[in-house]
Amino acid sequence: MEHQLSSEAAKLSLVSKLGHAVDVTDQQALYENAEDIAARLPAVLQTSLELEDIISLFHKEMSKALAYDSLHYQHRGVHCDVNFGQRSHHSCNYRLEMNSYWLGELTLTRRKKFTDTDTQLLEDFLCKLIYPVRNCLLFREAQAAALQDKLTGLNNRAAYDASLKREIDLAHRQHAPMSLIVLDIDHFKAVNDTYGHISGDVALRALAKSITNTMRLSDIAFRYGGEEFTLILSNTDATAARLVAERIRIAVSQLSCNDGKRTFGFTVSLGVAQLNQGENGSSLFDRADQALYQAKKSGRNQTLCSDTPISKDN
Ligand code: GH3
Ligand code: MG
Ligand code: MG
Repeated sequence: MEHQLSSEAAKLSLVSKLGHAVDVTDQQALYENAEDIAARLPAVLQTSLELEDIISLFHKEMSKALAYDSLHYQHRGVHCDVNFGQRSHHSCNYRLEMNSYWLGELTLTRRKKFTDTDTQLLEDFLCKLIYPVRNCLLFREAQAAALQDKLTGLNNRAAYDASLKREIDLAHRQHAPMSLIVLDIDHFKAVNDTYGHISGDVALRALAKSITNTMRLSDIAFRYGGEEFTLILSNTDATAARLVAERIRIAVSQLSCNDGKRTFGFTVSLGVAQLNQGENGSSLFDRADQALYQAKKSGRNQTLCSDTPISKDN
């Protein structure tokens, strides 16, 4: 069964409703609360911009007005999957969207069949859910955009700071190796001077693509700033990190960039450091950066590693 409601530009599609009207014990008492709950719902749903919180608040309020056994909300695009209660036989499933903006899918289930009054009540509540859900999704998009470098599409410096702290905490807690690669384009000023700034941007985008194509799935790449990039490699010691760095260096040296007029290439230098016990992010970065500096000094287009970390057992 499918019927649609329009509340301004919002669309709720009731995809399926199993069963027909039967008495539901205690439901009458709940209906009496429904009007008050519906009236305060918009204010309740304004208290958070976290999608999981909004669905949880919705469930808390909805369950005071309608008897059901489980509520399931899912939005695959943002990896949100929220479940409350135990799934029962009869279900009511809604697809939520607004101006073709996908807002997810919501399913209620229970042992007793849903009546038309129940679905009418649910739809009234859903109309109050869709704006807060859209706000959460827009907020998520804004958060993601704030962590992304616009030119290359890679994670930016702010994302690097947060990720490095998280990965270092994890590595210390799990006593697992972790490494950092710092990469810098060789003579990039000359690329800009020779071909122009727009061609320089073409090179930066090609480099970012080459890094993401070459690194492993578990590695995370960042544009640290300008023509400098970093990679965080969890569960990776210096020897393995050096291999990743070398693969990237070779792949970049084989790139040929085209700015629409000319074809040109460039090289990169890389510094690698493995996290020492108890070490913090800025010390790890300094050691990788120092190795990069040595790689530049030794002729560029090469990878150098910082000293092997000092082990407690040594
Ligand atoms: P080295 O081999 O020692 O690293 O030399 P280099 O020329 O790469 O180093 P330098 O730090 O002197 O120059 C970096 C250049 O990167 C200067 C700057 O104009 C350029 N650059 C930084 N960000 C961007 C960008 O977003 N787009 C372009 N086209 N150029 C950029
Ligand atoms: Mg450079
Ligand atoms: Mg530089």
